[in-house]
Amino acid sequence: MSQTSPARASSLRDLEHHDAFIERHIGPNDAEIAHMLRAVGHDSLEALTDAIVPASIKSAQPLALPAPVTEVEALAKIRAIAGKNQVFRSFIGQGYYGTHTPNVILRNILENPAWYTAYTPYQAEISQGRMEALINFQTLCADLTGMEIANASLLDEATAAAEAMTLAKRSCKSKSNTFFVSGGVHPQSLEVIRTRAEPLGIEVVVGDDVDAMTLDAFGVLLQYPNTFGQVNDYQALSDAVHARGGVVAVATDLLALTLLKAPGTWGADIVVGNSQRFGVPFGFGGPHAAFMACRDAYKRSMPGRLIGVSVDAEGKPAYRLTLQTREQHIRREKATSNICTAQVLLAVMASMYAVYHGPEGLTRIARRTHRLAAILAGALRKAGVTVGTDFFDTLHVVGVDAAAIHGKARAARINLRAIDASSLSISLDETTTREDVLALASLFGADARDIDTLDGATADALPAGLLRDTPFLAHPVFNTHHSEHELLRYMRALADKDLAMDRTMIPLGSCTMKLNATAEMIPVTWPQFGNLHPLAPADQALGYKELIDGLEAMLVECTGYDAVSLQPNSGAQGEYAGLLAIRAYHRSRGDDKRDICLIPESAHGTNPASAQMCGMTVVVTKTDANGNVDIDDIRRNAEKYSDRLAAIMMTYPSTHGVFEEDVVEICDIVHQHGGQVYTDGANMNALVGVAKPGKWGSDVSHLNLHKTFCIPHGGGGPGVGPCAVKEHLAPFLPRALAADGLRTQGVGKGEVGMVSAASFGSASILPISWMYVTMMGASGLRRATQVALLNANYIATRLAPHFETLYTGRNGLVAHECILDLRPLKDATGISAEDVAKRLIDFGFHAPTLSFPVAGTLMVEPTESESLHELDRFCDAMIQIRDEIRAIENGTLDREDNPLKHAPHTATAVSASEWTHAYPRELAAFPLATLRQQKYWPPVARVDNVYGDKNVMCACIPVDAYKDEVEA
Ligand SMILES: *Cc1c(COP(=O)(O)O)cnc(C)c1O
Repeated sequence: MSQTSPARASSLRDLEHHDAFIERHIGPNDAEIAHMLRAVGHDSLEALTDAIVPASIKSAQPLALPAPVTEVEALAKIRAIAGKNQVFRSFIGQGYYGTHTPNVILRNILENPAWYTAYTPYQAEISQGRMEALINFQTLCADLTGMEIANASLLDEATAAAEAMTLAKRSCKSKSNTFFVSGGVHPQSLEVIRTRAEPLGIEVVVGDDVDAMTLDAFGVLLQYPNTFGQVNDYQALSDAVHARGGVVAVATDLLALTLLKAPGTWGADIVVGNSQRFGVPFGFGGPHAAFMACRDAYKRSMPGRLIGVSVDAEGKPAYRLTLQTREQHIRREKATSNICTAQVLLAVMASMYAVYHGPEGLTRIARRTHRLAAILAGALRKAGVTVGTDFFDTLHVVGVDAAAIHGKARAARINLRAIDASSLSISLDETTTREDVLALASLFGADARDIDTLDGATADALPAGLLRDTPFLAHPVFNTHHSEHELLRYMRALADKDLAMDRTMIPLGSCTMKLNATAEMIPVTWPQFGNLHPLAPADQALGYKELIDGLEAMLVECTGYDAVSLQPNSGAQGEYAGLLAIRAYHRSRGDDKRDICLIPESAHGTNPASAQMCGMTVVVTKTDANGNVDIDDIRRNAEKYSDRLAAIMMTYPSTHGVFEEDVVEICDIVHQHGGQVYTDGANMNALVGVAKPGKWGSDVSHLNLHKTFCIPHGGGGPGVGPCAVKEHLAPFLPRALAADGLRTQGVGKGEVGMVSAASFGSASILPISWMYVTMMGASGLRRATQVALLNANYIATRLAPHFETLYTGRNGLVAHECILDLRPLKDATGISAEDVAKRLIDFGFHAPTLSFPVAGTLMVEPTESESLHELDRFCDAMIQIRDEIRAIENGTLDREDNPLKHAPHTATAVSASEWTHAYPRELAAFPLATLRQQKYWPPVARVDNVYGDKNVMCACIPVDAYKDEVEA
């Protein structure tokens, strides 16, 4: 400041600096940063960064992004963008329908950090609330479809349909390699199925339903009601398919099933669908929760997360993720699906919608929707318009001048589904009003003014032979919480059982649970983003276009690649898209033989799972004693498979939490042998603003916007897994759905089809990442990375006298996470990493990542958003736990009867009149004095994993299971 300035306490610029969002996003303040830098022995964040990150990869230039802006400014900017979307009344249907999100669910689930900041329920004891909501979802899907078991959840209906195809292949008795898809299936599902079938060598035949009667296929996919609204009787067709050893898969609509015969009663083996219309807005395509329900016999090979009932150490029923041996993180290259992140938050919303409305309310909503559709059909027929018969909510109108009708509709701010020059369809839904029916009728010159008379004169249009005659949702949970107070308290009671980021840091290595700022979340529930149908005409979605283009450009800048697709709706889907791009690239050059994918043994399970889904053969490469990928082993394998090398997939910085020095050389080796380099970008939080994979030699990466770029985890989804590529791979990014929404052509040779149902995947949560990058700006993003490195090294340093950090990189430093090695303690005392994870619950903490990537370890990733206070609280807990382990070592605590082995401790156990343990109650419940001020009580004791897998039970717990407990 100049000496001659007139007196003023502070400059305007200094004062404004403190409005910056950066200081809210980054946990530690300047003084805390200085303190931590001293602890780790470096003078500045720059010096620390230089000591950690190899010079060979460091970016010379700062990010070419605008300067940071405040929350107020960013919200104003995004409001202007949102204002460029035009929300018409959409009757397009095709798998997406209008719905009223009950306000009590909107505010208390979708806008509530207790739900949206939770993590995937791997730690069962602190996830009972969301698992109860998910088991309600499973019960809902199984009941309505009439199937024995359902999962929770899948990414969208189209990927669920593709999963149904591969499940059918695994489960059928037929030898055929052909999968039949009905011409009545939604076009986006067909697109994704084709993408998925091609690398697996499955032949997809599309035809009229009658063709399936005689075709030799291992499975068929039908749509009920079909994409044009028609409800067909598939009993005979199912019988014919079964007679040939084939599997019947059905895509369906949950609301229609409240009125229609459940597919399980007429022969379906697998049923998939989208739960979107159970209270989840269009969101321009997503996110929404899809589901799969199937025969019990398929449960051990069904994809996706499955919540099951087990018992806890006190013998009470408790939920847990069941049959995890099906999943990619266990099966790896033998996996049949790469599902990791799913759509938990949206599945919770849909389940609560069903809890709120109950079977009668849902039936009423369906009946009203159907009545309006029947009335509209009646009015149209009267005016001489030809309309299909046997429908639930969708009218197939034929023999009209479609262009003229669409023109009139646009003028009235109405969207109908375009089919061809002489036909279109109209889908009604929960939000349809009498005025809508009147307006729709008048587009065709029909008169629906006297709607009650029309109502009296028009019969239902549901086929008499297909009316539902089996009950559903009889469990009390769906018949109790119908008043707002009841639902509010039910949701609160569930949320209180869980630990999410609104109560504690979730220091999950590889999963980057950072702040999900409120300002980032606010635009998500604006109607200008929520109420756009994914197939709304482009000129109504100009705001989305600006948002998407802008975010793509930001991600290009952050990664150093040239092009980005936002279509993949999870990290694993991004991997799949990236590997498909590599595959198509090789083929476009006539290099059809390249099928080997090198994957270091420390890789995340989705990597090998995605590779096998692309028809690649996985060759696992070694890691050396320091935790680095073994470059000699990579060279050996690259040489050995030189003609067949398709790609290497590596995570950087590695899953071992270090910046390997050799990464540039590894890229060179793989390129020399004709392969492509895939860098798993899950660890981008250690890189943004510091180094760019696209610049050091990598060809493709996926990012996890639900890790590095602040989209909340939602308890296990939603996610966005953008696929970022160098220019030569850009032509092979997933394609969008054709503008008219109908693509009946196959994918051309060398092209990659769709990988998700919607062209822009989970578009409605993109504002979160856009807001983050906009508010942080170039300087904020770089500082976030540096503080993430500092926080991890601070924890490693503070815990060093107590726990060994397994791997370190240059100068003895870790990257943005550190692996604490508990194996020596297990050998000495019998205490496992799992015992420590469960003991942390008694301190109110969510455990770090357990036993990944190294069994018997905990991987801690604090992120930049945790303040020094929170880091110290965590370290204090870990040190206290280490003292308890020492007490076991020196015999003060018993080897078996100690607070670690019996953790976590419930209030019931601690307050019981009898206390039989060899350690005091106080130690069980309040191992640190600070816990007396704030204490989280786990709702269940340690959950029995073995019991749950032996006694698989995946629906709502019958009420009498709790009887003994109440009587006791
Ligand atoms: C999280 C993660 C993935 C998978 O991302 P999802 O969104 O869960 O599918 C892949 N690789 C690594 C290293 C990860 O940490």
